[in-house]
Amino acid sequence: RFITLEGGEGSGKSTQARHVRDWLRARGREVVLTREPGGTPLAEAVRELVLRRWGEDVNAATELLLMFAARAAHVHGLIAPSLARGVDVVCDRFVDSSYAYQGARGIDAVHLRALEALAMPQIMPDLTLLLDLPPEQGLDRAQVRGDGNRFEAETLDYQRRVREIFLRRAAEDPARCVVIDASASVDRVSAAIDAVLQARL
Ligand code: C5P
Repeated sequence: RFITLEGGEGSGKSTQARHVRDWLRARGREVVLTREPGGTPLAEAVRELVLRRWGEDVNAATELLLMFAARAAHVHGLIAPSLARGVDVVCDRFVDSSYAYQGARGIDAVHLRALEALAMPQIMPDLTLLLDLPPEQGLDRAQVRGDGNRFEAETLDYQRRVREIFLRRAAEDPARCVVIDASASVDRVSAAIDAVLQARL
């Protein structure tokens, strides 16, 4: 099974991704926990490229292509082979993040769909957990944690568009996506996720 976690900054994806991994392992499954951008040596190198401050404007097309370059390497090098071996894959962000983040920068869905077909043929998550919370709250959390990368200056307005796209995609594909209220405490969010895993897997 392929399970992805999506959501905005400070939504708790990484913590809950570990929780999902532990839940599956406790039920005897072999699990690979991974993340995007990243997940293989090449894809992690692309992540560093994309998060670094370059002192120049990185346009939306450049960012889009780097994200999909990382994703193609990740799918080819880790996700597809793991699933083929019967290993579960839990991934912190996946293609919904491109629709949300690069889409919110103005990239047309036509391009996203074309790159999706090229980079990840036949691979779609069986379950996507969207950890949803108002961007104000998420940005507060991320600041407390001291996250710092190229994206930290992104405006609230941008984060709101990102959230809207995530929610729209989840609503369009209820067979795959479940929206989780991520404004609650870590334990409550974990409990909500447990209920979804129990019901769906
Ligand atoms: O998940 P994490 O917070 O580590 O993601 C790193 C950064 O990359 C985030 O700030 C997110 O905004 C950005 N990102 C992006 N487009 C993607 C995936 C991540 O802009 N497709």
